[in-house]
Amino acid sequence: MTTVMYGTELANKMRSDLKEEVKVLSQKNIQPGLAVIIVGDDYASKTYVRIKRNAAEKIGIYSKVVEFPDDINEETLLDKINEFNEDENIHGILVQLPLPPQIDERKILETIKPEKDVDGFHPINVGRLSNNQPGFIPCTPLGIEKMLGYYEVEVTGKHAVIVGRSNIVGKPIGQILLNNDATVTYCHSKTKNLKEITKQADLLIIAVGQANTITANMIKEGAVIVDVGNTYLESGKVVGDVAFDEVKEKASFITPVPKGVGPMTITMLLYNTVLSAKARITEDQ
Ligand code: NDP
Repeated sequence: MTTVMYGTELANKMRSDLKEEVKVLSQKNIQPGLAVIIVGDDYASKTYVRIKRNAAEKIGIYSKVVEFPDDINEETLLDKINEFNEDENIHGILVQLPLPPQIDERKILETIKPEKDVDGFHPINVGRLSNNQPGFIPCTPLGIEKMLGYYEVEVTGKHAVIVGRSNIVGKPIGQILLNNDATVTYCHSKTKNLKEITKQADLLIIAVGQANTITANMIKEGAVIVDVGNTYLESGKVVGDVAFDEVKEKASFITPVPKGVGPMTITMLLYNTVLSAKARITEDQ
């Protein structure tokens, strides 16, 4: 019997736990605060920001969204980040990506204080994850780790194959699994004989962004499949990277798209923001 791992289930549970934690913090006169910076008019980015803001406010996190036009200069953006870095009411800062070409994305991400970097993209947090030290972990891979834990998927000693090596999903999920004692193999667009490698996976994580990248003949019987991909079809329907119906027949656990990894990503943003607010109390004591 295949278990379909719904992120919605765990996300709802975690959000209600976080709401309680925010209440406890408010008794100590602390309200977690999240600042979101968005540049330009991109419809998808604006939608993501709206969803993040609503999710934050629903559990009692104060959110501040700042919108800049597409032709903003780098200095203005850096000044705003520095303002939030110094603002005691803000515990998490995120800059919605992508940014327009005149802005150096790396410089922007490096300006966010690592203690407020709830997206986990600052090189200090990347290094901490690599060293297996506490720090902020990017939301999507952190959500996958929590889901595997919730569904009691054993990771130790397993061969985890990651397809995709982006800084926001592929690389960090491999690092997390390595820290959890899996044996990790990375694949990408230049990988030769992808099928020969994916067939060896006990745990297969796919973050590519192309429908049907993984079909049933590419997996081992009983493998655990985590599908991160999102492709929007002309019909408006969203699909993942995995041919779900046929792969489900062979897998032991599988995430669907939608309702799989997606809902966990925003939940982890809330989680990291609350974590940041709690860390500040410990520092102040
Ligand atoms: P990127 O485009 O940054 O990375 C895609 C990766 O896939 C690259 O490493 C690329 O290789 C690799 N790749 C491309 N084609 C192939 C192929 N044919 N075979 C093997 N590897 C291939 O994407 P992201 O990591 O940002 O996102 C991946 C997907 O996950 C997207 O669909 C995105 O929308 C989705 N996503 C979903 C989230 C959620 O919350 N559910 C959150 C974040 C992303 P190379 O490095 O060689 O170019």
